[in-house]
Amino acid sequence: MKTFSRRHFLAAGAALGASRIAGAALGELLPRGRARRVVIVGGGWGGLAAARHLRELAPELEVVLVERSAAFRSLPLSNKWLVGLGQESGRSHDYAGVARAWGYRVIQAEVIAIDREQRLVVTRGGTLAYDWLVLAVGIRYDYAPWFGDDRRAAAEAQKLYPAGFVTGELDALKQKLDGFRGGDFVMTIPPAPYRCPPAPYERAVMIAWLFKQKKIKGRLVIVDPGPGMQAFNRVFADRYKDRILHLTHAKVKSVDPFNRKIVTEFDDLHFDDGILMAPQQAGDLVWQAGLAARGDDGKPTGWAAVDPLRLHAIDDDRVFPVGDLIDKVSPLFGHYPKSGHLANRLGRIAAREIAGRARGSLSQPILPDSVCHVFADVDPMESVRIDAEYRLRGDGLIAQSVRQHFDPQPRGEDEAWAKSMYLDFLTR
Ligand SMILES: Cc1cc2nc3c(=O)[nH]c(=O)nc-3n(C[C@H](O)[C@H](O)[C@H](O)COP(=O)(O)OP(=O)(O)OC[C@H]3O[C@@H](n4cnc5c(N)ncnc54)[C@H](O)[C@@H]3O)c2cc1C
Repeated sequence: MKTFSRRHFLAAGAALGASRIAGAALGELLPRGRARRVVIVGGGWGGLAAARHLRELAPELEVVLVERSAAFRSLPLSNKWLVGLGQESGRSHDYAGVARAWGYRVIQAEVIAIDREQRLVVTRGGTLAYDWLVLAVGIRYDYAPWFGDDRRAAAEAQKLYPAGFVTGELDALKQKLDGFRGGDFVMTIPPAPYRCPPAPYERAVMIAWLFKQKKIKGRLVIVDPGPGMQAFNRVFADRYKDRILHLTHAKVKSVDPFNRKIVTEFDDLHFDDGILMAPQQAGDLVWQAGLAARGDDGKPTGWAAVDPLRLHAIDDDRVFPVGDLIDKVSPLFGHYPKSGHLANRLGRIAAREIAGRARGSLSQPILPDSVCHVFADVDPMESVRIDAEYRLRGDGLIAQSVRQHFDPQPRGEDEAWAKSMYLDFLTR
């Protein structure tokens, strides 16, 4: 196993404003009992599934979830909520209640470092020893391609034009949409891979519909590095051609959040307001813990290196990176879709793997599946369900099959899906 570098730990700690963590006498957050302990960092779709299933599969283990927020909120269904068409993303589910219901411990704290050598999770308030670690901290924005080292520009872009790909930004985004009075509203689509690929397009339809409803003299300008998605391209062109300008193959070269200007390879665009969705990569702790994968060119891929079948970190079988933060799993299709459904399945698989290791008996690996419901239009309502299934080929590679079902008369299937998922990890 590659050991964790002390220098790396110190540098990361200092960068996080936590130079006291190394060497200083940080106490234990929770003394060790006799049971072996699994610490789960991140209480999103992946982390909550791991916690719940570990309780069930390995009741002999102590399970501790560390999450920085007090309550869970859903990103799935948030596009509807943003334009006033549903309640789910407005609701929050208090972690203390969730943990009580399933029988594990939760600590509300920001984790600032992982010391893999000592098997410690470090927070400002103390440390937590682990036997196994599930790292499920989701994504972070990568502003470097737009701003280089200019942190002020990155902070300004995130504050004034939040992307809404993490739950903490949802309220600000809703306020922005509610307060928009007219002009060019820009939306940059991140380059792949990013969280829930159809989500920005669904959000675009919702926003265009909102402008129409509210009779706002506004235009949505979508700056898309790729060709778009077929189901949405048709709707943009047929039904919202006076509301949406979809610029395809338009790679963002630079952004000036102070003067509201975007430069692409073809245009200089000025905007009045907008949603600046920067490229995405694995969350901070993956980098700090030295778990980022490298491509054939030796450069970081942006995502956590995992064993595709067993889900442990490539060079550390005590650590299980779970959810959107993982790297490619197959040369046949690359990344698993970064969906809540799939993160939930990965959390379950990691729980099964850890339970097996705790008992000294590994069972056959299982593979996840993914379901994603998106709205292709609002009035009339039209939805698309995207199903992905995975199987192991004889040559050991994971293969993917994807099916799309178009539904011109949806009857709340998205909410039924969310409810059934919640029954797995949230509500009891
Ligand atoms: C607009 C939108 C719509 C979507 N719609 C769908 C959909 O319809 N269906 C679907 O399946 N998926 C959907 N998704 C994708 C889904 O939200 C993600 O795939 C899912 O949230 C990934 O789960 P995760 O556990 O990897 O990360 P997250 O759910 O982001 O959880 C990460 C958790 O880690 C915590 N955390 C991070 N760092 C720390 C730290 N240092 N210390 C302590 N805690 C920390 C965070 O607070 C967070 O709670 C959508 C996403 C978006 C943006």
